[in-house]
Amino acid sequence: MAADISPRPQARKPVLLSKIEALQDVVNTAVIIPKEDGVISVSQDRTVRVWLKRDSGQYWPSIYHTMPAPCSCMSFNPETRRLSVGMDNGVVSVSSPRDSPAHQGGVTVVLFVLEMEWVLSTGQDKSFTWHCSESGQQLGTYRTTAWVSGLQFDVETRHAFVGDHSGQVTILKLEQDSCSLVTTFKGHTGNVTALCWDPVQRVLFSGSSDHSIIMWDIGGRKGTAIEMQGHNEKVQGLCYAPHTRQLISCGSDGGIVVWNMDVTRQETPEWLDSDSCQRCEQPFFWNFKQMWDSKKIGLRQHHCRKCGQAVCGKCSSKRSTIPLMGFEFEVRVCDSCHESITDEERAPTATFHDSKHAVVHMHYEPTRSWLLTSGADRVIKLWDMTPVVS
Ligand SMILES: [Zn+2]
Ligand SMILES: [Zn+2]
Repeated sequence: MAADISPRPQARKPVLLSKIEALQDVVNTAVIIPKEDGVISVSQDRTVRVWLKRDSGQYWPSIYHTMPAPCSCMSFNPETRRLSVGMDNGVVSVSSPRDSPAHQGGVTVVLFVLEMEWVLSTGQDKSFTWHCSESGQQLGTYRTTAWVSGLQFDVETRHAFVGDHSGQVTILKLEQDSCSLVTTFKGHTGNVTALCWDPVQRVLFSGSSDHSIIMWDIGGRKGTAIEMQGHNEKVQGLCYAPHTRQLISCGSDGGIVVWNMDVTRQETPEWLDSDSCQRCEQPFFWNFKQMWDSKKIGLRQHHCRKCGQAVCGKCSSKRSTIPLMGFEFEVRVCDSCHESITDEERAPTATFHDSKHAVVHMHYEPTRSWLLTSGADRVIKLWDMTPVVS
């Protein structure tokens, strides 16, 4: 288990710009409209609202539309101003020209791809489908292993990344009306809750209910997977700021973490197995023979997070952060690793901020560096991230 965040006072933090509070129900997805003081929200109360900032400085709904079912997700394309809304009745509604019955159960993620004129969606019926956004015609479908909560698409190579509740990420290569399974990534011990694809570095980030984020280096083709520990509860959203090479993550712990991705992180070591402590050679408690021979009581096995050695509690009494291995929290290390870690190596590679609500959804708008967080408290907050994303 990761230790609690040791609160480090941050001089620079996100600035709260506005709060939108008059909400009947939880907003499942909301986006900032670029270049405008506007927000679009879709909610469990079946409404789609466009909120515009008034002279008073408050955001008020200027468009209010009631859908036939609770709205679970949406995708907004700023260039075409096209809005695709996924609902609990399995229908994906595209603002023009027609709706597509896409799923048997509720729609969990929807993604509009302008370049292909495709609407990708996933549902509670464990299916992934893609439709033509012009005709509404279904082009193809794929059965997923579990309920999907993360979906990303690479336009250049037509790969879809599908993250599901079994904890795996499936990579599919899409053709016009068929798809093929490329590979699956397994690294999380909980549900995949969010995915974020950076098409420039060709890196995929996955967030999970196991509190961790994994960075999958797809472009490097070495299959490296770097784990990043910076949340105390499940990760709910991930966004990448390409200009500054920073990853922003939000969690149901209310945390907003800004990760510097311009540093080279290392993979965590495999945990080694041993019958005795690899430092003091005392036997672990299941090694009855050695215990009998040496007349010693067995010890509990622990692992050093830096070198992966199996060590006893006495030889790993100290804790340290290892930010370059993704451990922004203090973790168990063996005594010799503790001595070898320099203060420089302990310097955090992320900053931690408190949104003061349990985030259910986030959206980052890079041109102004604004962040939107939607909370379980039925409040939407708008943040100026320039003090921390720079
Ligand atoms: Zn020991
Ligand atoms: Zn060690």
